[in-house]
Amino acid sequence: MPAVTPTELLTLPAVAPPVVAAERAVRQLVTSREVIEGAGFKVRRPFPGSVDAHLADPFLLLDHLGAVEYAPGEAQGAPWHPHRGFETVTYLIDGALQHTDSNGGGGVISDGGTQWMTAGAGILHDELPTEEVVTKGGLFHGVQLWVNLPRALKWTPPRYQDIGSDRPALLRSADGGAVIRLIAGELAGHQGPGITHTPITYAHATIAAGARLTTGWRSDFNALVYVLAGTGTVGPDAQPIHEGQLAIFGPGDALTVAADPRQSVAAPELEVLLLGGKPLREPIARYGPFVMNTRKEIIEAMEDFNAGRMGTIPALHGTG
Ligand code: MN
Repeated sequence: MPAVTPTELLTLPAVAPPVVAAERAVRQLVTSREVIEGAGFKVRRPFPGSVDAHLADPFLLLDHLGAVEYAPGEAQGAPWHPHRGFETVTYLIDGALQHTDSNGGGGVISDGGTQWMTAGAGILHDELPTEEVVTKGGLFHGVQLWVNLPRALKWTPPRYQDIGSDRPALLRSADGGAVIRLIAGELAGHQGPGITHTPITYAHATIAAGARLTTGWRSDFNALVYVLAGTGTVGPDAQPIHEGQLAIFGPGDALTVAADPRQSVAAPELEVLLLGGKPLREPIARYGPFVMNTRKEIIEAMEDFNAGRMGTIPALHGTG
């Protein structure tokens, strides 16, 4: 995986659990469903669907695309569509994705970069593999996370953050067996670059075969671990977990993930996402790309979209 991998691992700051740590136990472990998205690409989706919404709160959706080796002409994306009421966070481990929105934002994310789009009051955007990826094919691996916005921020103006692959804070486990790329929020006293409306922590950890990562975790956040590749165990009872599975942890202020000593040739290390946030505990009304608090607001969102009030597509109207 080319997602930023430092060579001088032991020079990085280390994460550690609190001195007296209450380790979080695994509360639920789910396997992703396969779903067809956008113009017809397949993703693995651990939630919504298999996880109680209040356990995932403030997260609404996690889609895992790949790792997949595209043949020339095979890569597909998501053409123009709207969003309102939350944020989409796209982290690309391999490949390149091009993005344009009705707010004038956009750019290319590639190889370890993150695109953070706050839809807020409403936005239109497209998310497409770059022309080079489509023409030549190649390795593609990424995830999209939906983070809910509290009622008070549903109508915030749209915002776009381009977090290049050089931006995440690089950390390590105490023994250097794990490297952590902190994309947003706080982890064991360190800070990631992403600016979040809803307080969250978002990190990608690579744990070497046989190594173990134990880190402090904010006790007011929920805690989720999703396996991108490899096999290992989670929690104090070393519950087995593998690629495409998600663990939801119970209360506490530290969590443990360990990589099995033997990994496959294709995935020689355990790759996991560490996710946590402060639950919003608000009613959720959702329909497709709109996530609001009431059904009335969903109908309003559909009316606003149909009337062009969420912005216009530059390609058709030339209005940026
Ligand atoms: Mn989208």
